[in-house]
Amino acid sequence: MVALDGPSGTGKTTVARKLAQRLGAGYLDTGAMYRMVTLAVLRAGVDPADAEAVARVADTADFGIGTSPDRPEIRLGADDVAADIRGPEVTKAVSPVSAVPHVRELLVARQRRIIDDVVGHRGGIVVEGRDIGTVVVPDSPLKVYLTASADVRASRRSTQDTAAGRKSSVADALASVERRDHLDSTRAASPLREADDAVHVDTSELSIDQVIVALSELASH
Ligand code: C5P
Repeated sequence: MVALDGPSGTGKTTVARKLAQRLGAGYLDTGAMYRMVTLAVLRAGVDPADAEAVARVADTADFGIGTSPDRPEIRLGADDVAADIRGPEVTKAVSPVSAVPHVRELLVARQRRIIDDVVGHRGGIVVEGRDIGTVVVPDSPLKVYLTASADVRASRRSTQDTAAGRKSSVADALASVERRDHLDSTRAASPLREADDAVHVDTSELSIDQVIVALSELASH
C-alpha cells in the first residue's frame, strides 16, 4: 500500500498510475471521487457553497470508480465522465464541495472499503489524494508527499490542459493552482497536510521517470 499525497500539479496522478503498473498493484484516484460528486452537484443545479444541499447530492449520487491503473472507469450514472470531471467548472467548484464534512465522511468510508477490497484481491494499491497518509490510511507502510514549486505546477497544469484540448495559459493555471492550494490547506475538515512520517519528494527538477524509479525502490524495501 502506497499513500501518495500532495497539492495539484506535482505529477501525482501520472506517478501514481505508472507506479501501480510497475508494482502490479491497483490504483485509486480519490481526487476523481471528489470531482464526481462536484459534477453531480453542478448537474443538479445546486450551489457548491450550499453545504446542506451538497451533502444531499453526495448521499444519492450514483458514481463508479475503477481501480485499474491502465484506464480506470470513471462513471456518473450511465455516463463516462472521465473528461468532464477535469473541466474548469468542476476544478473551480471542487474545493468547496470537498470541504463539506459529510462529503468527506462518505468518500473516506468508501475509499477504505475499496482499498481493503483491492488489497485483498491484488495484494497492493497506490492511492493518491490529499489526506491518504493523514486520514484515510494513517498506518500505510509507505507515505509519500509530492511537492513542486508553484511555477512548475502551474506550467505542468497548463500543458496538461492544452493537451486535453482546454484553453489554458500558465498565468491562469498559476492562479487556479494557488487558489485551490489555499482552499485545500485552510479548510476545517482534513486540510491538506504532510504526514509526519511521509517521505518528502520535491519533483520540481525531476522527470516523472526519475520519481517513479525512486518510489519503486522505496516501495520494494
Ligand atoms: O487530485 P485532484 O486535483 O483531482 O483533486 C481535486 C480536489 O479534490 C482537490 O483540490 C481537493 O479539493 C479534493 N481532494 C480532497 N481530498 C482528496 C483528494 C482530493 O479534498 N483525498
